[in-house]
Amino acid sequence: MSFLSCGRQSGTADEGVELQRDGNLSESARPNTQHASLFENVITQFNKAADLMRLDPSIRKILSRTSHEIVVNFPVRMSGGGIEMFTGYRVQHNDSLGPFKGGLRFHPKVDLDEVRALASWMTWKCALAGIPFGGAKGGIQFDPTGYSLADLERITRRFAFALGHYIGPEYDIPAPDVNTNAQIMAWILDTYLSMVEPKHRNNSIHVVTGKPIVSGGSFGRDKATGQGVVYNILKWAEENNRPIKGLTFTVQGFGNVGSWAARLLVQLGAKLIAVEDISGGTRNLKGLKPEDVLSFTSARRSLAKYSGGQFVDHIMFLKTKADVFIPAALERQITADTADWLDVSLVAEAANGPTDPAGDAILQDRGIDIIPDILCNAGGVVVSYFEWLQNKRRESWELEKVDARLQATMHKAYDRVRDVAGEHNTDRRTAAYIVALTRLEKVYTERGIFP
Ligand code: GLU
Repeated sequence: MSFLSCGRQSGTADEGVELQRDGNLSESARPNTQHASLFENVITQFNKAADLMRLDPSIRKILSRTSHEIVVNFPVRMSGGGIEMFTGYRVQHNDSLGPFKGGLRFHPKVDLDEVRALASWMTWKCALAGIPFGGAKGGIQFDPTGYSLADLERITRRFAFALGHYIGPEYDIPAPDVNTNAQIMAWILDTYLSMVEPKHRNNSIHVVTGKPIVSGGSFGRDKATGQGVVYNILKWAEENNRPIKGLTFTVQGFGNVGSWAARLLVQLGAKLIAVEDISGGTRNLKGLKPEDVLSFTSARRSLAKYSGGQFVDHIMFLKTKADVFIPAALERQITADTADWLDVSLVAEAANGPTDPAGDAILQDRGIDIIPDILCNAGGVVVSYFEWLQNKRRESWELEKVDARLQATMHKAYDRVRDVAGEHNTDRRTAAYIVALTRLEKVYTERGIFP
């Protein structure tokens, strides 16, 4: 299947259509039409942990549902003069540990099911990292690559206006995600500030995180998710006596997270041997230069034509023998169809939900280690929390301080997951859920359920 495919209800008309990319995708690589929805996959993971830890049945009921689901259909007057309609989402899963928190993505595959799943992963992720946030996610269902910067600004601002006070600095705090960045956050911030009372403008800038630095962003936020992935891989390498120097790795998706993880790992002496993105795949067993790959893809050129490596199709890419595979694109890449192809020791899940339950079972059978998404990619939201704190305290932390605190937070979460996996004799994904759910269970038990 193409790595463009993402969570869909079973039997939807668009399954298997995203095959128009360089490379030949075989019949067998197509998504299994029996797939559960993405949110059902989350519930499968959740139930496994809930059973093992004997989660209180009432709390199980609460956490298997989302709190609020906001769908907005809104018109935008485009710079050409015409009107286009867009559909935007914000799903707020749970706020018992703190304000709703999570990114906004711009992608044609964004839908309620996907956003529900992503929102609940944010709840587990924040609880696991021990930061005082709940979980949310949102986005607009469209392909931003077809729009000018001026139109993107109009669409973003109109979406922020439609969300209105469903977001807020102490209530629900968006951040970048797939196809969104600091510029998009600056537009949302500016639109939101124009809707608050003038006297509150300067104490509301923490309504979004992942902002540009001068607009209140934090040093280190841009690379934070990739940096967190690297801290996790370093822990795994240490635990398994694998020197980082010469460690080979492959990356799927070369956006913010994949490209930062690659650059940071190569700086440490690891070797990037294959990359796949929306435009194709490239491989060079002697090592690819991440900066070079990035400037090539940023110019919107097809990776398949990159002269620094040989073209690989999707299957060849996934079959590349390496120490570590970093999926850093969309959901459901490692499935019953593809999990057997991987020839690696570790899957470091930089994306949200890259492995479905069937794929997960295969990796476990094959003895391939997994650093689960809610642990592996938590660096982004952890530094979002630091940004939010800096805004509230009117502080600006040095990069060294941000990195040191991020590292300490990631190490603590990694160690806790390893220990809980040992205590319960279970896999690390289930252990990560248990750590998160234990915190959530505690807060519900302490506060009780009203009325
Ligand atoms: N989009 C990122 C994630 O999936 C970051 C979210 C945030 O910083 O709120 O974790």
